[in-house]
Amino acid sequence: MNKQEWIQQVEKYDQLANDIRMQLWENPEVAGEEKFASALYRKVLVENGFTITEVPDMPYAFVAEYGQGSPVIAVLGEYDALPNSSQKVSAVKEEVNAGGNGHGCGHNILGAAALAGTLAAKDMIEANKLTGTIRFYGCPEEETLIGKVKMIKAGMFDGCDVALSWHPMSTNQVYENSYLANNSIKFKFYGVASHAGFAPHLGRSALDAVELMNVGANYLREHIIDQARVHYTTNSAGFPPNIVHPYADVWYYVRAPHRSDVNEITERLTDVAKGAALMAGVTMEVEKISGTHEAKGVPTMTDLAYKNLVEVGAPKFNTEEMAFAEELQGTLTDFQITNDLKLIGKRREDNPVLHQEVCSMEINRTCTINASSDSGDVSMIMPMALFTTACWPVGAPAHSWQATASTGHSIAHTGAMTAAKVISGMIHDMLEDPSMVVKMKEEHAATHDTYVNPLD
Ligand SMILES: [Zn+2]
Repeated sequence: MNKQEWIQQVEKYDQLANDIRMQLWENPEVAGEEKFASALYRKVLVENGFTITEVPDMPYAFVAEYGQGSPVIAVLGEYDALPNSSQKVSAVKEEVNAGGNGHGCGHNILGAAALAGTLAAKDMIEANKLTGTIRFYGCPEEETLIGKVKMIKAGMFDGCDVALSWHPMSTNQVYENSYLANNSIKFKFYGVASHAGFAPHLGRSALDAVELMNVGANYLREHIIDQARVHYTTNSAGFPPNIVHPYADVWYYVRAPHRSDVNEITERLTDVAKGAALMAGVTMEVEKISGTHEAKGVPTMTDLAYKNLVEVGAPKFNTEEMAFAEELQGTLTDFQITNDLKLIGKRREDNPVLHQEVCSMEINRTCTINASSDSGDVSMIMPMALFTTACWPVGAPAHSWQATASTGHSIAHTGAMTAAKVISGMIHDMLEDPSMVVKMKEEHAATHDTYVNPLD
């Protein structure tokens, strides 16, 4: 079998990937609740001769393995949805269920395409009698940025040589370095309740501490690096205004390009919280919810992903897909569209609506993603590829209703099948020439520090 035949084998799984995409889109499960999705993937993988390994204390995570010997190649599949993201396949903002879940990050197609690429590669390993192992990782809880961090801690990635990951997006490109490191932390304040009219002097307000902390954090912003992001949401536990709040908490995200920056800012933020507690006369507790590393690649892996994306070619969309994308794009602001176009080196008048080219390596080497993902941690323990394909219109951000509408439409399937072929093609090249895996691992060892799990 030659490379083209190998890549075309993915077409055999076109219908399966499309069915999974729609089944998950219609049954969107948020992080930690992916019962339906995980059962669906397990069933297909077992039917295709994969052996399943369970992950301790994570019922919706699994590792499915096929083949033997090295290299051992991990393919990452995610399937969780987002809360409050329900949206019909419509160019008008319209929920399927009020306040319901939805696939605004496209994980319904992320896992489906990863699976199609994996199954096609498995067929070819069998047909060509090749040595090598492929592992499909069923990765829940990505949206809470913790699933893969827990799986790493449980040793589930031990023995893997490299990992392949992709993400639905508005553009076709590969990333050398992407994703911001992140900490998700809750600061809990405990005060003394009192009637706010009769005896305010006897109360000590936890809500005061939250407000003082937020003021301090907003002053802190001026004195941290430009690329860092600090955001928060508060919970005053439902106490009415006439009660001095005995409890309140504030949930923070700290993001920055490097884990070391995130650690430093988190320490300073914790000092701000301590100061706020002291001022309000309350006590406090810190709950670390999750933490991730930035994604950091190696050149040989980036080059391989790019070579395969070029070989497969950018997705080609049909007239109906283009028309729907145009309608969806019409709901975006000019700034959103222009900003996205700038990232792919296009002018406003060039607007392709759906990206149908592959970004140049010049763009790929410098482009990043201003969001966080637990796959960053996988990139810290082994060489990991990360690429995106166009699955929604240029200008539409991930986690938007326009993205949810697109992932329920064939636009996303078209983009996802490109990704499936790239995954299969990359596996082909690494099995044909395992020396490139050795090179990737050498590059990784030379450029990555010893991994410290954020949960430790
Ligand atoms: Zn995502």
